[in-house]
Amino acid sequence: MSPHKVALVTGGNKGIGYAIVKGLCEKYQGIVYLTARDVGRGEAAVCKLKELGFSPEFHQLDICDQNSIDKLRDHLLKNHGGLDLLINNAAIAFKHDSPEPFSEQAKITVEVNYFATLKTCETLFPLLRNDGRVVNLSSSAGHLSRIPSAELRNNFNNPAITVPELNKLLEQFIQDAKDNQHQERGWGNSAYVVSKVGLSALTKIQQREFDQENPNRNISVNSVHPGYVDTDMTSHKGPWSIEQGARAPLFLALDAKNLKGQYVWSDATVAQW
Ligand code: NDP
Repeated sequence: MSPHKVALVTGGNKGIGYAIVKGLCEKYQGIVYLTARDVGRGEAAVCKLKELGFSPEFHQLDICDQNSIDKLRDHLLKNHGGLDLLINNAAIAFKHDSPEPFSEQAKITVEVNYFATLKTCETLFPLLRNDGRVVNLSSSAGHLSRIPSAELRNNFNNPAITVPELNKLLEQFIQDAKDNQHQERGWGNSAYVVSKVGLSALTKIQQREFDQENPNRNISVNSVHPGYVDTDMTSHKGPWSIEQGARAPLFLALDAKNLKGQYVWSDATVAQW
């Protein structure tokens, strides 16, 4: 079994995730896994990095497929005995002119960005070793103020909220969108916002739970807004390069000291959530 530290990035085949993998290859003292749901796209990204002189490992991971997450967990356990750094980067966003009805966009967006990320965490967290770090890629859209209803904001921001309660809130959004009542019920009109506010709230719960379980393990979980970045997700409208977008996530992964359960801005400062 390898004595090395192990880092893993979800959705690493392109965009910010790819730049995070590249940054980790440069600076992380350990093994770096690039994961992707599509083996061809993932291996192509690994080849590109190899041409730059880096040597990330590859493993398939579709965060929406529990079987795929389980296989990854088994591989990590067998080959490394654990995990030290998990970067939850994989996500989707429908384009503004997408033809799918809002109810469908709401369900799919929340399923991927929130519930699939949660499942990935629940499956891989038991592998985290002491001093482990988790970085959840949220967004400026994941700021609490983006939810119009004060009552919903209070629910998300309840310091005692549990994962099942947070799950219920997100399921309620999916139902309200299905009933075409999401605006009246104070969710606003962006499924992406709800999914990322959910992820920011989840980050705080995850930190609280690690601390309650055993604060001496020194595990940190933070969420981050990477900036507005030139990727497929933004239809290349963001002004920042993917390397610039990777800076704040890499700060949390490598350099942050004593930041726990925080929402961190793209300039690597802690933002009020
Ligand atoms: P991209 O759309 O460029 O890349 C998204 C990555 O996630 C791709 O590798 C994609 O794989 C992967 N992915 C999607 N669904 C799954 C899945 N089910 N399982 C595994 N991988 C999956 O996005 P960005 O690089 O722009 O965004 C990265 C992160 O940063 C996201 O969490 C995003 O919400 C966040 N963010 C981005 C901002 C920006 O300005 N770009 C701003 C704020 C936040 P595939 O190639 O197979 O589709």
